[in-house]
Parts: sequence; C-alpha cells; structure tokens
Amino acid sequence: MSARLLDGTAVAAEIRGELRPRVADFTARAGRPPGLGIVLVGDDPASHVYVRNKIRSGMDVGYAVDLQHLPATATLEDVLAVVRRLNRSDTHDGILVQSPLPPGLGDEAERVVFDTIDPVKDVDGFSPVNVGRLVQKRPALVACTPAGIMELLDRCGIAVSGQQAVVIGRSDIVGKPMAMLLLHRDATVTMCHSRTRELARVAAMADILVAAIGRPGFVTPDFVKPGATVIDVGMNRVEDPAVADRLFRLGTPKREQFDKKGSVLVGDVHPDVAAVAGAITPVPGGVGPLTIALLMRNTLKAAEDRLAASA
Ligand code: NAP
Repeated sequence: MSARLLDGTAVAAEIRGELRPRVADFTARAGRPPGLGIVLVGDDPASHVYVRNKIRSGMDVGYAVDLQHLPATATLEDVLAVVRRLNRSDTHDGILVQSPLPPGLGDEAERVVFDTIDPVKDVDGFSPVNVGRLVQKRPALVACTPAGIMELLDRCGIAVSGQQAVVIGRSDIVGKPMAMLLLHRDATVTMCHSRTRELARVAAMADILVAAIGRPGFVTPDFVKPGATVIDVGMNRVEDPAVADRLFRLGTPKREQFDKKGSVLVGDVHPDVAAVAGAITPVPGGVGPLTIALLMRNTLKAAEDRLAASA
C-alpha cells in the first residue's frame, strides 16, 4: 500500500484564490490594500528564504508588504521600537516578526517581542491574548501552521471528530495550538514530547498523527497505525551522508537529489511510513505552503476586523 499524498500546495492555492475577491472588496472599501509589516532581524539564510516567500505570497494576493530589515547588531529596544511603530500605523494591519531572533538578543527576546505586538495585528497568533482566546475557543488569530493543517484535513475530507489524534512536539507555535485545535474539533488528543515513554506505542494509537519534532525521519513505520493520516510538520535540511543513508534507498528521487546537491530537505517522518499510512503530507509541498496561505488569511482577517472596528 502507498499512502495518499495530501497536496498542501494545491490546498494553499485554493485558499489564496478564495482571498482574492475579499482582498478586492477590502481594498475598495478601505481605499488601500491590506498591509502586512514583516520584521526581519539579522542574516539567518533560512529566515531570509522564509521572508522572501512571505513577501512574494503577500504581493501575489494584493497586499502592501513592508519589510523592516534590521541588522544583526540591532538591540532588543531597536526591534521593539519598530514593532511599536507598526502597532501605531494605520496602514499596517498585520505584523510578524520572523523567528528565530539572533541569539545575542537574549533568551526572552521573542517572548518580549510577541508580548509587544498589538493582538489585533498579531497575524502569527503568538501573542498571549490570542493564545488565551484559542484555548477558550473564542475567535482569535490562530498560529498559521496548525490552522493550515486543520484546513488540509477538512479540505481533504479527513474526519477529525471522535478520532484518536497524537501530536508529537509541544512547542508554542506548532504542538500546543495543534492539540488545542484538534481538541476543539472533538478529537481525543494525546500530546507527546521528549520525555514521553513508549513513544512509538503511543503514536501507533493515532488515527491522525502530527509530527512536529525537528528531527529528520524520526517517525518510523512502527509509530504508525496502518491507514492512519500522518501530518509531517518537520523541515530539516540533511547534509550528513550517514543520515541520508538511513533515510533514502539508492535510486529514489530524494537520494538522487542528495547525491547531486549534497543536501536535501526532509520532514520528521521516515519515507518508509508511506507504505503504512493511509494519507501523508509530503515535504516539501505539504504543511509549508499552508502556513504561508494561513498567514495571508490571518492578515486579511486582521484588516477586515480593523476596518469594521473603525466604521
Ligand atoms: P521545537 O520548538 O524545537 O519543538 C520540538 C518538539 O519536539 C519539542 O516539544 C520536543 O520535546 C519534541 N521532541 C524533540 N525530540 C524528541 C524526541 N526524541 N521524542 C519526542 N519528542 C521530541 O520545534 P517546532 O518549532 O515545533 O518545529 C518542529 C519542526 O517543524 C521543525 O522541523 C520546524 O522546522 C518545523 N516547522 C515547520 C513549519 C512549516 O511551515 N512547515 C512551521 C513551523 C515549524 P520537549 O518539549 O520535551 O523538548
């Protein structure tokens, strides 16, 4: 058996298509397009790629995207000053600060920054106000990756209510909000992490298994109940030939890509899981495009809510 591939790229395109008429309507009513402010600090190459994709996607759906790029030498106060200015701006509806911030800003920097973003403009859904609203199942700007996964499940016709869901990973940006969204849709949710005992046995109870760990190919077939839906959130760049040997058989496309380029992007789920799962997200082309599509949808929601509040 080979699992059905859940095409995140196609679902993301569908979501962007739904946004376009709403963007046109907002622009006509507000006299300006929705505005997204992106704050990027430093020179992390992966962050630059993510930000470039977000800018491209924002412009594609008709937003005014404003990149504020601060040097790696910026202080936390410099970053907060930009965030406060965007909070006050009439034309910035959404604000996102690209994570991770440079380590030199200190362990608490991200938390302080997310605490400072105005919750009505917090399109990443990381502020404590939006997290609290999510927990209480009240309308909120919800973290884009887990919100995108729910869209994917729904649009691919995968039932959630009453299902056993297991989430591996308990980060604030993926694991915890993911568990909350599944719970609100009446799944029976188990959260796992690095201290979970008998992880493979617990994971193998899942009808829906979400892997958000950050370890290439960690979830092997013994973690997966035959026929389960497996959502692979991980995005890991593999450069070590020993890891490539563990993950990819000779002659497979990923192996050939690795041999040619010396690196390859892989998820947290081992390729052999495709022989056991009923449905699975590819990496790339699964969860990643949905994260960006949901960022666009959150930005429009923030813009519409601000316009309604000002009427
Ligand atoms: P994170 O903050 O590093 O959290 C990782 C989680 O995995 C932690 O809760 C950790 O447990 C758990 N974990 C680590 N080793 C484990 C093990 N051996 N057994 C069980 N659990 C283990 O990571 P994140 O920000 O959630 O991201 C996870 C992955 O998703 C990364 O690859 C990231 O690049 C990717 N990601 C992708 C997207 C996308 O759009 N596709 C978006 C966000 C993140 P403890 O809490 O016990 O340490």
